[in-house]
Amino acid sequence: MIALAEPATREAEGCVKARYPHFSASALNAYGECERKWFYRYVCAAVDDPGSAASAYGSAFHLALERFHERYQRPRPEDAAKMRSDLEYELDGAFAEHRDGFPTAVEFEIQVRRARRTARRYVEWLVAESKRAPFTVIGRELRVELELEGFSFIGYIDRLDQDDATGAVTVVDYKTGAIATSAAEYLERVRTFGDFQLPFYYWVRTAAGDRVTQLVLLPLKDALLDVRPVCLEVVPVPSAAVKRDAPSGTISIADLERAKRRMIEICRELTAPAPRSFAVTRDPEACTFCAYKLACTRRPAPDGERFGR
Ligand code: SF4
Repeated sequence: MIALAEPATREAEGCVKARYPHFSASALNAYGECERKWFYRYVCAAVDDPGSAASAYGSAFHLALERFHERYQRPRPEDAAKMRSDLEYELDGAFAEHRDGFPTAVEFEIQVRRARRTARRYVEWLVAESKRAPFTVIGRELRVELELEGFSFIGYIDRLDQDDATGAVTVVDYKTGAIATSAAEYLERVRTFGDFQLPFYYWVRTAAGDRVTQLVLLPLKDALLDVRPVCLEVVPVPSAAVKRDAPSGTISIADLERAKRRMIEICRELTAPAPRSFAVTRDPEACTFCAYKLACTRRPAPDGERFGR
């Protein structure tokens, strides 16, 4: 005989507590992209995400560049050949350390070759930059923390450069995945609160006393293309509209200030002592590689299926 259990009583609604005492730019970016994703990842830890070959590629490349720039803090055109071979050496070592992140030996070999080809283009770019305006690398994988109105933010800056002539500081973020392809596109993402990373780095280094004049996204994804960074010069007031496809543009202090205010607001929303739910994104593209896709029954239908369901 089967004895039916009493129905479970509904738990009282309560507020949500994130597992981490600090906020990071990537957590805020996840929240900006999809509140539900943030909830799954940062509150529930709903899926043990084992990572992917793409994330192993990114980690290995970052590690190789960190070690490479320990030796080459002042890149010089006359060191080009040596820089090429030393970066290949560092890449081989870093990829070997991340070997477990690649599912097969073939995939591993393909990605190492892709990284070596990209590295050659990176050194070409480095040489051209050092000729144009000599600089010194003053920080690599720099751990940074910032306290804003009682909320703690934490992050790691990939590289910090200082112009030898002016002392101005550039924040450089290496990107081994898809990124904005123009300054206008990245600026739009900052203005619509879809990306907080470079604004956060700007504020943290400004608080540390640096004169930050440039924010740079450095693409290291495509081995077939020259390295063409997306650069935003920090300016006191918004400047006239730039060409949509231009890799360089400006970002005003007011834009950076708005991003900072939104970071604080999000922290308030997330720590408010009131029950709340987490909305799913309206953009089906955000779901394509989401680790929580199977659990997320309310995700938006892909564009092609909207009328077919
Ligand atoms: S599947 Fe889509 S809607 Fe659901 S959590 Fe992921 S990104 Fe958000």
